[in-house]
Amino acid sequence: MNMIFERKLAIPMEVKEMFPLTGTMSQVVEQRIADLKAIFEGRNDRFILVIGPCSADNEDSVMDYMHRLNDLAEKVQDKIFVVPRIYTNKPRTTGDGYKGMLHQPDPEAKPDMFKGIIAIRKLHMRLVQETGMAAADEMLYPENHKYLDDLLGYVAVGARSVEDQQHRLTASGIEVPVGMKNPTSGDFQVMMNAIQAAQHPHTFIYRGWEAHSQGNPYAHAILRGSTNKHGQSLPNYHYEDLMLLHDFYAERELANPAVIVDVNHANSGKKHIEQIRIAKEVLHSCRYNDSLKKLVKGLMIESYLVDGNQKPGGGTYGQSITDPCLGWEKTEKLVLDIAESL
Ligand code: PEP
Ligand code: MN
Repeated sequence: MNMIFERKLAIPMEVKEMFPLTGTMSQVVEQRIADLKAIFEGRNDRFILVIGPCSADNEDSVMDYMHRLNDLAEKVQDKIFVVPRIYTNKPRTTGDGYKGMLHQPDPEAKPDMFKGIIAIRKLHMRLVQETGMAAADEMLYPENHKYLDDLLGYVAVGARSVEDQQHRLTASGIEVPVGMKNPTSGDFQVMMNAIQAAQHPHTFIYRGWEAHSQGNPYAHAILRGSTNKHGQSLPNYHYEDLMLLHDFYAERELANPAVIVDVNHANSGKKHIEQIRIAKEVLHSCRYNDSLKKLVKGLMIESYLVDGNQKPGGGTYGQSITDPCLGWEKTEKLVLDIAESL
């Protein structure tokens, strides 16, 4: 092989022994998952906000953000269930660039996978311990899921992974709600097929084991917009898109039909400020149509301390080094406005 095997890394069980959860932390995560499942089952009607930076690039600024988010979440907890985004792996369009904290715990230093595994576990542990919330992360590499599976409150399968069999089968064995994004090409059926695959049991190879998954009845859709052959963004958050998804759900026998609308990415054309308008439009569609009110369980918002983004090494504390995010003041106002309108 044209590859150097540098060193054997600790397996998830060993890393969990090195950095174990306390009983209280496990209870916190379990409760958060139970609360979220109640929303997907329609037993609780709080609106979900999966919200936070595009990438968790720096422990200090991410935790600073998370404490502010937790204070805000407490203010709106009667109406909104906040799932913070701590995204520690980043898919890259061409493969180049910052691949997330797992690869580069220091975004300006060379990749170090062992330090990365520890850094991401430590960050997710701090969130649970210091705020009582459990975060969302993207499952970019299915075989790495077990490094964090005792800590996560929500899992997303990204637009570039959603057609991949190993992602779908692994999602079918995951305990928490898994959001399946529409692919970058925008085909709703690819996403629906992913949801169906994840809701059913499977037998497959996972980390060298013959594994049997139980099926995940909480697998659901995430609409993030798409890109056409001219490279233009095509939004899919409008009323007609949501109705189309509603009709596609009606054609299949799936448990807990649900969608989270990602208001950034190809829905905003990565114009982060547009997230505010898009969020309000989606809420308007829900108020207009009761079926949509049931189907749309929440929004995904990219938000950080400082508006916009910068190149890695840019030096602005709390500003994204991947996709542009809403800054803190606009985020706070948006979340309060959303709560008010519900
Ligand atoms: C993200 O959520 O930051 C992301 C990379 O999303 P997508 O897979 O939709 O591009
Ligand atoms: Mn992003």
